[in-house]
Amino acid sequence: MTYDCGFLAELPLSADQLSFASTAREEFAADFGTTADAERAPDAVVWPERTEDVSAVLAAADERGVPVTPYAAGTGMQRAAVPVGGGITLAMARMDEVREIRPADMQVDVEPGVIGDELNGALESEGLYVPSFPQSAAFSTIGGMIATDASGTKTVKYGEVADWVLELEVVRADGSIIEVGSKARKTSAGYNLKELFVGSEGTLGVVTRATLDLATRPPQTVGGRAVFSTLGDAAGAITDVVRAGIDVATLELIDPLTAEMANAYTGSDLPATPTVFFEIHGRAVDAELDALRARFEAHDAARIASTADDEEMAELWRARREIGHALTEWDPDRELEVVGDVTVPIGSYPTIIAFIGEIADEYGLPIPAFGHAGDGNAHYALLCDPGDAEERERAHEASDRIIRKAIDLGGTCTGEHGIGADKRSHLRAEVGDGTVETMRAIKDALDPNGILNPGTVLDEVDQ
Ligand SMILES: Cc1cc2nc3c(=O)[nH]c(=O)nc-3n(C[C@H](O)[C@H](O)[C@H](O)COP(=O)(O)OP(=O)(O)OC[C@H]3O[C@@H](n4cnc5c(N)ncnc54)[C@H](O)[C@@H]3O)c2cc1C
Repeated sequence: MTYDCGFLAELPLSADQLSFASTAREEFAADFGTTADAERAPDAVVWPERTEDVSAVLAAADERGVPVTPYAAGTGMQRAAVPVGGGITLAMARMDEVREIRPADMQVDVEPGVIGDELNGALESEGLYVPSFPQSAAFSTIGGMIATDASGTKTVKYGEVADWVLELEVVRADGSIIEVGSKARKTSAGYNLKELFVGSEGTLGVVTRATLDLATRPPQTVGGRAVFSTLGDAAGAITDVVRAGIDVATLELIDPLTAEMANAYTGSDLPATPTVFFEIHGRAVDAELDALRARFEAHDAARIASTADDEEMAELWRARREIGHALTEWDPDRELEVVGDVTVPIGSYPTIIAFIGEIADEYGLPIPAFGHAGDGNAHYALLCDPGDAEERERAHEASDRIIRKAIDLGGTCTGEHGIGADKRSHLRAEVGDGTVETMRAIKDALDPNGILNPGTVLDEVDQ
């Protein structure tokens, strides 16, 4: 589908803020989880520099029924930033100012295109940071994280990105500008619209400013990794550590296949056995470390290495940090077909990890599994030969089985990546028809012409 977007040239945008060129448009036809699809490329790209630019584009597009898809860094896994077919892409990267740091309030005002690690770099001299960014924080944006309600390796202690969002400026589909939330840490003033916009994947409004709550950097940090003989031991140890209330900031699991892939990409020497990475933050880290060691040893941990030295810790963590890229570089003949991020109640973590292994055997497909285990999250990936339709179909069937199992265990089809275009059927299976209809009613109320990122989260409807 293509849309006439010539009206954009009439808006008060400078020449370098607008492009109809195919090279520019094709750049926005893929995200990390998908290969480029020319059919889905936008008809025009706008680079807003101020809230008023976003407002002008939305008001004009809404009047004409032209779809608008926000695109930040494009590191999403679910095609959520890729248009369903044509329309306008709002490329948010230029709205990248850290506007005001207020150390006394432990708050910061940022534009949505700020990269996560760059924000934390700017906060370092104040001894402050946002602790729960995703693993992709070196190259993903605050706006993208808010829109997907991202979380990461430290969520087990510090919660999701949503937990650090205090207030948002949002441009609605008709171009009107509203503020939701409060600079106060708590508010009971009316409906909680802030939470509604967080995680809405650009389908309810465009975030143009965020006020984030900040944490004090921990006085002590100790981290390390432990090696187990079986995945069951590793998953059981993780469950026990969480249940025992040990104050861990991070508990990550990688399986032997993932370790092999990470070694090949980074040159690291992880043993080809299940490995758990951990970090403890606070004032009494040694006591917590002792308690963690005892739990790991009860599950036959073969080796536990730990360090309080930042550089050594970074080295220990390097292989874990690079898994995303290690997967894509693993086999030049294969592409990422599916990246899963199921999340289950912590008591069911060993079950879902074992199930992923059973599915890999049953379908005859290698399925590397890893994830933010401390919050019950299991990532898995299916790599396929793009020319082998049968294998690709088998991969999706295998992933569907894993997702159904997670839902049956009381979990979710997506702990952090979002629904995007790819998991819409799973959303219905997870929350039920009545809840999807309620979401649709909210979408229709806020975006009656259906212009905001149609086909993401909810099915597209004919207008
Ligand atoms: C190697 C790697 C590791 C990753 N690790 C994690 C992880 O640990 N945890 C995790 O949660 N995710 C992870 N991700 C996925 C991804 O990085 C996150 O989903 C991230 O939040 C997306 O940010 P982005 O800036 O790339 O957004 P994009 O991918 O560009 O956009 C994501 C969604 O946000 C919408 N959007 C963007 N900006 C706005 C805005 N201003 N207003 C409204 N909507 C907007 C888009 O329309 C789209 O729906 C990882 C990805 C990679 C490649």
